Amino acid sequence: MTKVFFSRPLPASVQQAARARFDLDVREITTPLTEDEMHRVLTEYDAAVPTLGDMFSAEVFASVPAPRCKLLANFGVGYNHIDVAAAAAAGIAVSNTPGAVTDATADTAMCLMLMTARRAGEGERLLRAGGWEGWHPTQLLGMHLGGKTVGIVGMGRIGQAIAKRCHFGFGMDVAYTSRSPKELDFPATYVPELKALAAAVDVLVIAVPGGSETHHLIDAAVLGAMQPHAHLVNIARGNVVQENALIAALQSGVIAGAGLDVYEFEPQVPEALIAMENVALLPHLGTAALEVREDMGMMSVNNLKAFFDGKELPNAV
Ligand code: NAP
Repeated sequence: MTKVFFSRPLPASVQQAARARFDLDVREITTPLTEDEMHRVLTEYDAAVPTLGDMFSAEVFASVPAPRCKLLANFGVGYNHIDVAAAAAAGIAVSNTPGAVTDATADTAMCLMLMTARRAGEGERLLRAGGWEGWHPTQLLGMHLGGKTVGIVGMGRIGQAIAKRCHFGFGMDVAYTSRSPKELDFPATYVPELKALAAAVDVLVIAVPGGSETHHLIDAAVLGAMQPHAHLVNIARGNVVQENALIAALQSGVIAGAGLDVYEFEPQVPEALIAMENVALLPHLGTAALEVREDMGMMSVNNLKAFFDGKELPNAV
């Protein structure tokens, strides 16, 4: 029977679906795989379902010259933790779970936009600390989103879902950048130059994939181009934003606030960010809803099944 390895526990329905077809081993802890574990996965299993943090680097693939493993069916749309070229060179296919994550991650972006622009985290902390003395007309005044302009960096699946929510739900104008202009069924202005986009918007939302191409895409120069009342939201990958530059921009008032779901060195979150009231911080909650994680898991299982049935991978990367 085909031996499959899950690098984390997945929802029960997903494990059940995989067990019905494969000889499944589930690693019961929730930390990223160590190099030794990855070595064992490549040596002892026919396929694996890795996820965020499992750093399948070129060195890891090189350490197993004739891997038994033929497929890494990644749990998640982002696969910047897997060196796909090195996997291909080792004869290992890689798939991911696009689409299943889109709406939930876009919702998380909206949550962060509201939290930072409307000072929701700050207000909640005030109340919980017993510091709320009652409503008054000038308390905790934030930025109203209606009528403002959102700038989307990376107008892919998630970027478009965020843009739609902003346009149809909040009456915002939408501007965006990505490698190419998109044909969209709602109004949005393509601004190819990132700094020009940053300068033009009230909220800049990052939705590009992680990886070497987008590493530190949002640096001091981009943050410096933003307006002092503007907010930055990142639901993509932590190292797309140069975290030190973001901290400096927030501390010196170059931008007004930030909403973050991801961090450059997560799960480490700099004390400087934690100390600032104008920053909303979530622990990578983008897709954290049971049905979403079930859909993602079923997509990984479907990729495993297709692969071992000799069919084309539905979600090859
Ligand atoms: P996608 O459909 O592939 O969209 C990515 C977009 O980024 C595309 O529009 C692409 O432009 C653009 N892009 C890529 N490289 C770029 C660059 N160097 N400069 C400007 N734009 C660039 O991916 P998705 O499904 O929307 O997912 C996006 C990312 O979100 C994932 O890769 C993942 O890392 C992250 N994510 C995070 C969470 C979370 O829990 N916080 C959950 C899900 C996903 P073109 O279309 O022009 O090529």
